Amino acid sequence: MKILCIGRNYADHAKELKNDLPTEPVIFMKPKSALLLPEKPIYYPDFTKDLQFECELVVKIVKNGKFIAEKFAHKYYNSVSLGIDFTARDVQREQQKKGLPWEIAKAFDGSAATGTFVPLTELKPIMDLDFELKLNGNTVQIGHTRDMIFNIDQIIAYASRYFTFNVGDLLFTGTPAGVGPVKIDDKLEGFLEGKKVLDVDVK
Ligand code: MG
Repeated sequence: MKILCIGRNYADHAKELKNDLPTEPVIFMKPKSALLLPEKPIYYPDFTKDLQFECELVVKIVKNGKFIAEKFAHKYYNSVSLGIDFTARDVQREQQKKGLPWEIAKAFDGSAATGTFVPLTELKPIMDLDFELKLNGNTVQIGHTRDMIFNIDQIIAYASRYFTFNVGDLLFTGTPAGVGPVKIDDKLEGFLEGKKVLDVDVK
């Protein structure tokens, strides 16, 4: 399986990192080794001094496909969760400054934390979901999927021109504003439509 991630998909987050708004989805990938399963802690990596959380809606792919038309994209998923796109922000800034790839800042082991998946049949429409991230009990990010620049089906249609989707792939759909650093012993909890689906301790 692979993990496809979208960058800069919420205008308020692009603004907080002083990035321009994209005209096409910004795609990057994390390998399977980046996956942090539900309830597992992340160990603070030794190569960064600025590990940051980015809470994102995560879509699980349930059908193989290539060149997927936007109008059929909804057939390729049926559950969602929340995840953390952990980012070594200092390393990312260095890489960006040098015009080099992001992988060492965003695709390292444990950088793709995931929560429990909820069937879409139990939720409001996918583009009308609210989510929230708490850091040590305090709300730090609030997201509404309707604020995405590119919606889920547009992302799947676009990405599938380049990459075949396979059953079990995950799609991280970008983070709203409010990203920030974590430190050892911090606790992150994600709530989808008010229900806790994600729990990550930093060790
Ligand atoms: Mg992200």
